[in-house]
Amino acid sequence: MAASDVIPESLVQCLSDHSQSSQSISSVTYFPNNSSYTTVLHSYIRNLRFMSPTTPKPSFIIAPTHVSHLQASVICSKIHELEIRIRSGGHDYDGLSYVSAAPFILLDMFNLRSISVNIDDQTAWVESGATLGELYYRIAEKSKIHGFPAGVCPTVGVGGHLSGGGYGNMMRKYGLSVDNIIDAQVVDVSGRVLDRASMGEDLFWAIRGGGGASFGVILSWKIMLVAVPEIVTVFRVEKTIEQGATDIVHQWQYVADKIHEDLFIRIVVLPVIERAIGQ
Ligand SMILES: Cc1cc2nc3c(=O)[nH]c(=O)nc-3n(C[C@H](O)[C@H](O)[C@H](O)COP(=O)(O)OP(=O)(O)OC[C@H]3O[C@@H](n4cnc5c(N)ncnc54)[C@H](O)[C@@H]3O)c2cc1C
Repeated sequence: MAASDVIPESLVQCLSDHSQSSQSISSVTYFPNNSSYTTVLHSYIRNLRFMSPTTPKPSFIIAPTHVSHLQASVICSKIHELEIRIRSGGHDYDGLSYVSAAPFILLDMFNLRSISVNIDDQTAWVESGATLGELYYRIAEKSKIHGFPAGVCPTVGVGGHLSGGGYGNMMRKYGLSVDNIIDAQVVDVSGRVLDRASMGEDLFWAIRGGGGASFGVILSWKIMLVAVPEIVTVFRVEKTIEQGATDIVHQWQYVADKIHEDLFIRIVVLPVIERAIGQ
């Protein structure tokens, strides 16, 4: 089924039959003839190469607001032989969360982005559609001495990031994001909602690094917060090759793993755009 094809009424009915929310699934489903379809599709495309007219488009987009919308999407796409692409922050470098050669629907997680921080037991539940920046902000609202080890870019989505590993400025001290996840809620291929106890340790291990979309739709994650100092010092040094950048990169490799774990040094290699002569 291409994006331009007529959607069978039986598919629409199937989605409705399997949804048990006060908000109907049809109100969060965008067909190509809907005026919001293109805006919704484009809003989380972070790689503009995949925004061209020739990029394959989803038959329709569902932006669930309730777990039963996820279950209905999984069950009905299976019946109607449509692939599912799951998108959280849309930062996949290859557009894997919103492009497919086969007919597909897009499950867009942006409505499922709630974050609940519990400082008493130093944990938080975060839904996959939240961004890392939102997560950091909600933790900081509750406590200046707690944080979570994850990526540097605030617009990266929790869904893709936590299911892929997640490294950032605190990785020397606390490891990857996945080292600090203690539970998750997943909708599996049969539409069942599973948590860590019911999914078992093998699946729980796989979704923390194996890429979530291979195993199901991850609705939310329970994370352990980590201790951070109230004041953190950050500095940045920029050097060109002429100023000895090569030596710095060379030396860094000998000290990076030996310095104190509270110190994280990141090297970013960037091209310098030469100014035209006379400018
Ligand atoms: C500008 C930029 C900066 C980055 N910085 C860092 C960094 O500092 N550290 C780091 O470790 N990585 C970084 N990354 C890589 C980033 O963590 C991965 O690309 C990550 O997969 C993006 O997650 P997302 O939810 O934004 O992407 P998406 O494109 O939405 O998803 C990525 C993959 O995860 C799957 N997926 C998404 N949500 C779900 C879900 N709910 N259930 C199941 N599967 C799901 C998608 O189907 C897709 O296969 C960066 C990427 C970019 C583009």
